[in-house]
Amino acid sequence: MAHLFQVDRVKLLCSCGVLKPITAIYLCRHCLKLRCGNCVSHEVDTLFCPNCLENLPSTEARLKRNRCGSCFDCPSCSHTLVTRATSVQTTAPDDPSKTSSRKVYYLTCTRCRWTSRDVGLKDQTVASGGWGEQDNEHYRFLQFLMEHYRALAQAEKLEREKKRSSHRKSTYLSLSDKYSLPSLLGRKSLTPLSPYSPKGDASQISEMIPLEASSEVEGLPDDIFTEEVILSSVTNMEQRMASPEFQPETVTELYPLRKHILPKRSLRCRHCEHNLSKPEYNPSSIKFKIQLGAFYHVPEVRLVKSIVLKAGVENGVQISLCNPTPHDITLALLPFVPEAYLQAQQKEECSEGGLVTQGGLVRVVDIPRETSDLKLTGDVALPQGQVILAARDDTAEYDDHDAASAYKDDPQVVAWRRANKVGMNLLVTPHSDTTRVKIGLVLRYDYTNTVATATEARIVTLNVPIMIDVGPVSE
Ligand SMILES: [Zn+2]
Ligand SMILES: [Zn+2]
Ligand SMILES: [Zn+2]
Ligand SMILES: [Zn+2]
Repeated sequence: MAHLFQVDRVKLLCSCGVLKPITAIYLCRHCLKLRCGNCVSHEVDTLFCPNCLENLPSTEARLKRNRCGSCFDCPSCSHTLVTRATSVQTTAPDDPSKTSSRKVYYLTCTRCRWTSRDVGLKDQTVASGGWGEQDNEHYRFLQFLMEHYRALAQAEKLEREKKRSSHRKSTYLSLSDKYSLPSLLGRKSLTPLSPYSPKGDASQISEMIPLEASSEVEGLPDDIFTEEVILSSVTNMEQRMASPEFQPETVTELYPLRKHILPKRSLRCRHCEHNLSKPEYNPSSIKFKIQLGAFYHVPEVRLVKSIVLKAGVENGVQISLCNPTPHDITLALLPFVPEAYLQAQQKEECSEGGLVTQGGLVRVVDIPRETSDLKLTGDVALPQGQVILAARDDTAEYDDHDAASAYKDDPQVVAWRRANKVGMNLLVTPHSDTTRVKIGLVLRYDYTNTVATATEARIVTLNVPIMIDVGPVSE
């Protein structure tokens, strides 16, 4: 590891036990806990094309297989393709001596210079929408499979609903449609197909003949070991996998790829169901209605200078702390003991376990539990005492007034002070059996909670465990 970015150096320990950089972590202002992408629920707000910014309802996106109808990616380098116009001379069919010019359009990549003419695709007479889909020989079979599974899913659902309605009369409309069938439409047309229904003829479901695996596969072409391979004419793995249904082997088979549609997601705390992040609806807006990124609420810790540590001795390491909030912050650095932290976390999980979105509309998907390596490979001597971090002030950089004198700083604790930033010296001793030093500390600070209600304390003390990759050890 020659070089690490700041975000990879300093990581915060989320309440779920995963280490994440400050840019990938959120602070729930209602639970006052750190949350990350691993421990929140993700909801799709809008679907849009990242190139033309067209907004699509989810049913339309499904029909278009989550691809934009008018934008294309380069099949060679995956950059966005642009439409080029050119004019061609054509002769009139009835009189060969007359020529007229006509405007035609083709696709080209401004990055790798691939054009749709390279692969012999005919120029289009309209600027957009003229490019058809490639014919897939397996299309009918795949369509048939989809139909089959839809019928199966529908039959299963009917069965479930019948069971439920025999218990109690219910008007509840099931929201889950496993294979994307609008539930009302399917109910009418697919009922007779169900083998589980008393009158069902089971035609569609019984038609399926399971495929059989065979040990015989087609042999390699005869010239595979004799023909010289021209690397520039065969596709690489990325190009091939970009269109999994065709998997072109040679560059002449590359075809423009329809652009993937992207979702705008909002994130919700699984414990209190409050939003942690909610983007604005409009795809062209990059703003958020709610954005509780830790970046705005937790002091940012950075390693000031990257050094090579000496083994067996105390090394001076400087960190900086930056206050992102418009309130003064009082903070202290405390030692971090991973074992004690993990125990406390387990205890909390037991008491909090039943809280997770009971009966809410939020669907909780269980993500396989991820855990981070919390092994510390260095001891750290932390400065004792408290430090006040000045509030963020956007005009401070234009101000010549020296703010440092306003705070009675202990020079043992504070190395330097500039606007809302403070530098602190740590003494790091690497463990004897390590080549790279990771230290841990807990940032204890007073957080001014602006959403607190009258019943809650406005200023709360938060403990944020942080791990810092200080650097390599020299012999
Ligand atoms: Zn919460
Ligand atoms: Zn988490
Ligand atoms: Zn588009
Ligand atoms: Zn390209």
